[in-house]
Amino acid sequence: MASLSLKHIYKVYDNGFKAVNDFSMDIADKEFIVFVGPSGCGKSTTLRMIAGLEEITAGELKIGDLVVNNYAPKDRDIAMVFQSYALYPHMTVYDNIAYSLKISKVPKDEIDRRVREAAESLNITEYLDRKPKALSGGQRQRVALGRAIVRNPKVFLLDEPLSNLDAKLRASMRSEITKLHQRLQTTFIYVTHDQVEAMTMGSRIVVMKSGFVQQIDTPKNIYNYPANKFVAGFIGTPQMNFYDATYDVKEDFIYLDAGFGKLRLLPDFLPKIKDQVIVSGKKVCIGIRPENIYLYDERMKSDNYDILDAKVSVVEALGSETIVYADLDPNREKNISDNTTEVRIKMLSNFDVHAGDNIKVAFDLTRIQLFDAETGESVIQRIPAVFSSDASIKGDELEIYGTTIKLPPAVLNQVHEGYVSVNVPTSAVELGGKYVGEIVKKDVVDTENLYWIKSGKSIVFLKTPADVELEGKVNFDINIAAMKFSGEDYVAHRINLLAKLPVTAKLENKSNLQFVSGEDIFDVPFDMAQKMFNTKGKKLLKTNLSILFNTDNDGKYHFSAKVLDVKDYGDYKYAKVSYNNIEFYVVDKDYQVGQMVTVNLDLDDSLITDEDSDIILVGSEPRRLQKIVNTNKETK
Ligand code: ATP
Repeated sequence: MASLSLKHIYKVYDNGFKAVNDFSMDIADKEFIVFVGPSGCGKSTTLRMIAGLEEITAGELKIGDLVVNNYAPKDRDIAMVFQSYALYPHMTVYDNIAYSLKISKVPKDEIDRRVREAAESLNITEYLDRKPKALSGGQRQRVALGRAIVRNPKVFLLDEPLSNLDAKLRASMRSEITKLHQRLQTTFIYVTHDQVEAMTMGSRIVVMKSGFVQQIDTPKNIYNYPANKFVAGFIGTPQMNFYDATYDVKEDFIYLDAGFGKLRLLPDFLPKIKDQVIVSGKKVCIGIRPENIYLYDERMKSDNYDILDAKVSVVEALGSETIVYADLDPNREKNISDNTTEVRIKMLSNFDVHAGDNIKVAFDLTRIQLFDAETGESVIQRIPAVFSSDASIKGDELEIYGTTIKLPPAVLNQVHEGYVSVNVPTSAVELGGKYVGEIVKKDVVDTENLYWIKSGKSIVFLKTPADVELEGKVNFDINIAAMKFSGEDYVAHRINLLAKLPVTAKLENKSNLQFVSGEDIFDVPFDMAQKMFNTKGKKLLKTNLSILFNTDNDGKYHFSAKVLDVKDYGDYKYAKVSYNNIEFYVVDKDYQVGQMVTVNLDLDDSLITDEDSDIILVGSEPRRLQKIVNTNKETK
């Protein structure tokens, strides 16, 4: 039994090809993790790095509490099952299963007990005397599993173990493996390109594409809240329908105009849409799953549906369900490969639909997904990172959430009188405080509650693990330094106070590694130096590096920077400083413009990147906004 931690793992092959980029995740003991993605996305490479069959170019792999980057496969306490079974053809099933135990000099009685126990659990006892060639594919794969089971490994790695089997056998082996996982109570990592295997077996799924992780989540969340168009299209059969559209903002509703017709955007979506500026003509991609579109029925007279006409082109009756392909714009001229107006509908088989029929289809508007037209990222956020609120400014006063407050100098200098829209990071909203609202909705997102608070005309999101009374008024607070006013020169660094310093590495006295930035020299802690040398070797000394660090930490190292500007947010003050032509923010301690100040550098809470090949060499993600807001409050 073991947990695993993968931190900034990279694989760069000798030919320079980057097969895996910045793979980070924590795997809990007994989880069943599935890596899924199209051919060549890097899933097998990642698995092989965990197994020790492939060297890790950069990053840290832990099994339990041990960093195992440099451990041989046999010392990692893992067992791997391959697609090809890799059985010894000249040995019986018994000897194949017993082989690794014999090598490890386990006593004969013990070997016999373990082999028979494994064979029993896999239903292959009657074949123990046979040679592999006298077995079916499914039986061979069971032998391969048996060989892994007898070793009692902490972690089971399975690389497409079922892909050589026919569809029926695959389905039954799928449930066998799930049962095996439950019985063994061990961590499983399973690689497949089959999304059905991923959805049915995984406790969590890692979707990969071109060497990059796209999303890590439970099957349910991956299906309901895909992070981007790729994930949305990869998971689910038949594939999600996608339509290029533009927003059409009208008095009564915001519409999604897809050319062949318009769908309403239900008001509940609005507060959760990323990048709140929705204007007519702005492009967006609509996604809707075939199972969320229905053949129109008189009883569907709900505000949650929009009805469109379509002409059926193909009907696939699959027994319990039927897939209907229809055209939403049958009169438009198009060539044969143009399926941008095709709709796939998955429905029960008791409908009588034929090719050529004119039908009415109902889109379930509550199940619509929206993706950025350029990046393909989902624009509907489960927990909005930022939401927007209405406010007005008069003189030096701000009216927001029905409360009037004095504007601090840093904001006052930057804004104009009148109505403004204010962007607020959800992480800056706290329970209790000067603003009042009413809870109108509660979403449970993983282990957090997301409360929708109506205050004035705005919806404010409060994210908290706490259970808040839903009835009556609720008080909340927001640090004004975290608010961004429209038109304001936003102090981006006040969010996280991060700074990125370019440095190079140099060896002093052959053993002491140092970072050099202009005139300043910082000794590199031994552990950090070792990890960087493990990855880069001697080339490290010729590499352009950068240190990303939090200027708000108490670090062991110091350097001087010049104050360029001071931003006064009342309770919170920040100074913009310059150091070797790099500008960033620090927490202000009544600094004057032009003054030289000391900046702390905490290498233990920093990220070192190889800028030449864009690889994170070592380090942890520095702390983020919420903690900083809290720290400031505590030290006040
Ligand atoms: P598949 O399902 O086809 O096995 P995969 O997601 O498991 O795909 P990997 O085997 O991890 O993909 O390979 C990822 C990428 O790395 C591929 O583009 C592959 O061509 C490349 N690759 C694998 N081995 C090497 C190598 N030794 N040298 C260079 N490139 C390699």
